[in-house]
Amino acid sequence: MSFVRERIAALEGYLSGEQPVDPDVVKLNTNENPYPPSPRVMQAIATVTPDMLRRYPDPLADRFRQAAAETFGVTPEMVICGNGMDDILNLAVRAFSGPDAKLVYPTPTYTLYAVLAQIQASIVQEVPFGTDYELPFDQLAAADGRVTFLANPNSPSGTFVPARQVEELARQLSGVLVIDEAYVDFAEENCMALTRRHGNVLVFRTLSKGYSLAGIRFGFGVGHPDLIAGLMKVKDSYNIDAIAIEAATAAVRDAKYSRENCAKVRAERERLRRGLQERGFKVLPSQANFVLARIGRPSAQKVYESLKDRKILVRYFNGPGLADKLRITVGTPEQNDVLLSSLGEIVG
Ligand SMILES: *Cc1c(COP(=O)(O)O)cnc(C)c1O
Repeated sequence: MSFVRERIAALEGYLSGEQPVDPDVVKLNTNENPYPPSPRVMQAIATVTPDMLRRYPDPLADRFRQAAAETFGVTPEMVICGNGMDDILNLAVRAFSGPDAKLVYPTPTYTLYAVLAQIQASIVQEVPFGTDYELPFDQLAAADGRVTFLANPNSPSGTFVPARQVEELARQLSGVLVIDEAYVDFAEENCMALTRRHGNVLVFRTLSKGYSLAGIRFGFGVGHPDLIAGLMKVKDSYNIDAIAIEAATAAVRDAKYSRENCAKVRAERERLRRGLQERGFKVLPSQANFVLARIGRPSAQKVYESLKDRKILVRYFNGPGLADKLRITVGTPEQNDVLLSSLGEIVG
């Protein structure tokens, strides 16, 4: 007999991308930013005193909420902070869905949604995207989940749904619409303004991608104060540590630095897309810091393995609609050159 609850024992669990120890690996598998965080972040971390570590941190991270409110044009009551966005996604499932309520999202998408829903025994309704990742608008509206998740830009496709269409979806849904904007810093548009116009919209952000802070673990959610108050009730008392609060506050106060890095990544994304196309890949238009590239021959799995032999990591998802594709993070110009020349050799 197992001590583990049946539901948990049956669960696959979230599969993270590999984090190699070897520093020589060209790591293009988990969508980290190839550039370092703002120097202001490192300065802020250096100001952390022993006393700040001795005491518990601010449970709500009000310094960050104030800074985020100013940067993103909302009020502090509209902001909740989390130990990475993953923490807040979990809060949303627990606060708004829970057992026996319907949670809806278009697929393929971020696989953590399914894991969190299964842990809470939510009823999951997955709605497939169109062939070119068009939003399955009518099906999502008809499903009308207690919670609907939409990653925008989506992962692993990198595709983007215009804000106007997302707003129309928000209008039609009677439940909560959570817009996962993990990659929005690399996109042309975002849905932040919807949080001021719709009481059922939450926009979730992370500092992991656009702000080069995946190692810090900091995410935040923005929405109507009533939604935020609901999320606050289910969070851990001290869900973000003192160092993360300092780092994250400095990062959003220096949003200009992040914007400049993201512009570099966007320019490289275009060059990478062209390079991949020249080597026989079909590449979806991306608004994120990665591209989804389809290959006929050799198989995507073979290409993944050959790259790995050459110490280049990309992401291969052997799931529905993804078995012939690779998700490739946009690296530095040098990393992208190494990738493209290796692919030239592998694909022939
Ligand atoms: C990376 C990612 C997140 C989570 O980011 P963290 O803040 O690092 O937990 C959420 N959603 C999507 C789609 C992501 O790719």
